[in-house]
Amino acid sequence: MITLKEALTLSKEELKTFKDDLQTKIEANPELNAYIDVKDTGDGVPIAIKDNIQVKDWSVTSGSNILQGYIAPYNATVINKLTDAGLSAFGRVNMDEFAMGSTTESSFYGKTLNPINPEYVPGGSSGGSAAAVGAGLAIAALGSDTGGSIRQPAAFCGIVGMKPTYGRVSRYGLGAYASSLDQIGPMTQNVEDAAILYDIISGSCEKDSTNAQRDDKVVPFLNAERKLTIAVLPKYLENASQDVKDAYAKAIEALKAQGHTIVERDMLDAKFDISAYYITATAEATTNLARYDGIRYGNRVDGKNLEETFIKTRSEGFGDEVKRRIMLGNFVLSSGYYEAYYVKAQKTRHIIKDAYAKIFDDVDLILSPIAPGVAPKFGELSKPMDMYLSDIYSISVNLAGLPALSLPIMKNTDGMPVGLQLIAPAYDEQTLFDGALSLEREIGYKA
Ligand code: GLN
Repeated sequence: MITLKEALTLSKEELKTFKDDLQTKIEANPELNAYIDVKDTGDGVPIAIKDNIQVKDWSVTSGSNILQGYIAPYNATVINKLTDAGLSAFGRVNMDEFAMGSTTESSFYGKTLNPINPEYVPGGSSGGSAAAVGAGLAIAALGSDTGGSIRQPAAFCGIVGMKPTYGRVSRYGLGAYASSLDQIGPMTQNVEDAAILYDIISGSCEKDSTNAQRDDKVVPFLNAERKLTIAVLPKYLENASQDVKDAYAKAIEALKAQGHTIVERDMLDAKFDISAYYITATAEATTNLARYDGIRYGNRVDGKNLEETFIKTRSEGFGDEVKRRIMLGNFVLSSGYYEAYYVKAQKTRHIIKDAYAKIFDDVDLILSPIAPGVAPKFGELSKPMDMYLSDIYSISVNLAGLPALSLPIMKNTDGMPVGLQLIAPAYDEQTLFDGALSLEREIGYKA
């Protein structure tokens, strides 16, 4: 597959031929189930779009039954930014329902397969985006990351996934899961493409009150020669598989070979991350999903009266995982439990943020696992608690609002990719991309 950088140099005619071929190729690979729908929406370089990002006049469903039939009334800001830069939405790609999950098994459209080996999950919730890029069925894709949903599927499918600093990319037109954690970001074949796509979609937006309103760009200043101080976390690695430990050792050697200085630091026990995240995320999700009542959006199942219509619509429209989280979110917000759970989770969130700030006092980047192991096989994470625990390495980044990028480091003996992530201080995407570029250069992994 050509890279995004190459695609941006194609003539109109070349692009047209490329898109026709791409469509044929996607239609010839239906078993992967990465795409929900393919449509050419403009003249630009085709980009696959997660099914929770609105493209005007096109169906958008967040992978849910409850939004069947809903047509987006406006473009998400990121879609307008793509169009302005000569790119265009080409297909909607599969995801866990309302971005809740780590495997893309909870989608209304059925599961997506891992393009490297179909017995394995592609990761989630942006599994369709990762599988499409990993299979050579997309030049690049947009995903969303609330607790790892860009970085983890990227690692499982052997591609690059980047979550920007909270507030860098407008959330206007993104189906909300947990508003204080969600960010849209690029999923690409390599680090440079991620930087290109990040520059295109990031920046100010008056329609998002949490937007940082900053327009600085990274691509003009990319510099893989910069010598950085990078923190490694030996103790934090205890819960990781041997594959991840091997990849970690390999990445440290590669970073040293590139002239970076490696220092050892320690991070808080990740069990605090899981508790703080699943309380915060479900509380916000409960509130965000209250709007799906059968009256204003999508599917409706009529009852005898309004209350019964609400109940029937939501009972039939939402899948099991979404219902589980609505119940958990309502519980932690209910009077009597609010102080004990929700308020405590917010305090914990601050402690996590402070722990990162302390490390960043004298280091530029942190090298961390992104998942405890390679992609699990289908069925391995069937218990909800096991699935939540598999997020140990991804969610603290969202709780602290930091930018992070996951990239493939090696393949294990079964041929499955092993990825790791670099984490940077807030708003320092420049250092994140510079460091990732030098690591990628030394490792030489090809998607
Ligand atoms: N796996 C996490 C969850 O289920 C993260 C999802 C995400 O980032 N959207 O909440």
